[in-house]
Amino acid sequence: MDLLSIVIPVYNEEQLLPHLAASLLRILRKTDLASEIILVNDGSRDASLEVMVGLAASHPEIKIVDLSRNFGKEYAVSAGLRFARGEAVVVMDGDLQHPPEVISRLIEKWREGHDVVYARHVARREESRMKKMLSALFYLFFNRLTETPIPQNVGDFLLLDRRVVDSINTLPERNRFMKGLFAWVGFRRSEVEYEQAERALGSSKWSLWKLWNFALDGLTSFTTLPLRLWSYIGLLVSLLAMLYALYLVLRTLILGVDVPGFASLIVVMLMLGGIQLISLGVIGEYLGRLYHEVKQRPLFLVRRTYGFTEADEGQADPPSSGLGAKHPGAGEQIGEERHQ
Ligand code: UDP
Ligand code: MG
Repeated sequence: MDLLSIVIPVYNEEQLLPHLAASLLRILRKTDLASEIILVNDGSRDASLEVMVGLAASHPEIKIVDLSRNFGKEYAVSAGLRFARGEAVVVMDGDLQHPPEVISRLIEKWREGHDVVYARHVARREESRMKKMLSALFYLFFNRLTETPIPQNVGDFLLLDRRVVDSINTLPERNRFMKGLFAWVGFRRSEVEYEQAERALGSSKWSLWKLWNFALDGLTSFTTLPLRLWSYIGLLVSLLAMLYALYLVLRTLILGVDVPGFASLIVVMLMLGGIQLISLGVIGEYLGRLYHEVKQRPLFLVRRTYGFTEADEGQADPPSSGLGAKHPGAGEQIGEERHQ
């Protein structure tokens, strides 16, 4: 029997976890696949971990990866993907916004031979108009500027075939814009539609500022167009400057010297100064990210795992081996081991 893994990042969801586990287990029993539910505790500050441990005690399907601190959702998902052993892996949120009922339809499509099955949400009632507009704008930008378009309204809830998970696990980058990575790997894709529920309890962990930074991370890790843009802006500015210089020289030759010019001088100076600072800022964005990549720190650190058998651990090379080079966060080693 094939194994199905469900990967769920969890950050301060103590209230929702029991509901989530109950409805997931109910749905999973109906499928003809063996299943494991991997809850990744992303440094929750509430009692999420205790609730999970309690759930895992009575349900052997539930396994827990406890990260050493809050790394962020993208890293929690990356961790879950490293530990998942299933032939198919479903990634979903832990706030019940992704109805577990959809999983059976994802599996259906997977069985038809698709490697990546997206769940596309048709209604997003919870979000404000402004958030919706900004998100539409982001997709427009992203898909125009990069070579790996990501479909709108999908991305957080999807099924991945083993091959896709292995590919994602070998990606070395520290900057984990998962939506983009899921799209970047390619493979045969398909999607199903579902109606997104409202967050049952608790609140969204994303502020506008966090989303803005997320958007910047996404853009900069998938396109270098903003860098190249500055060459063209420079060219344009130089061209205009040359035309203006020509005009000034001719005017002086014909009409004689003309002293006033403070206003035009100061405007040009300030504008050019501004443009130069912006271009430096853009270079800085990329440089900063390059710096993070070069440091080669592990993506995440695991404090402890619960419910994984020895065999799993042998493959995942868990934290018991310490924080050395073979830590699960150090992608390359894991990638290699799995292909043996
Ligand atoms: N999450 C996480 N780490 C974080 C923030 C969120 O693991 O730092 C998890 C959270 O517990 C939930 C999922 O990511 O399972 C989606 O979070 P949320 O509902 O806040 O995001 P939204 O649905 O508003 O995009
Ligand atoms: Mg949510």
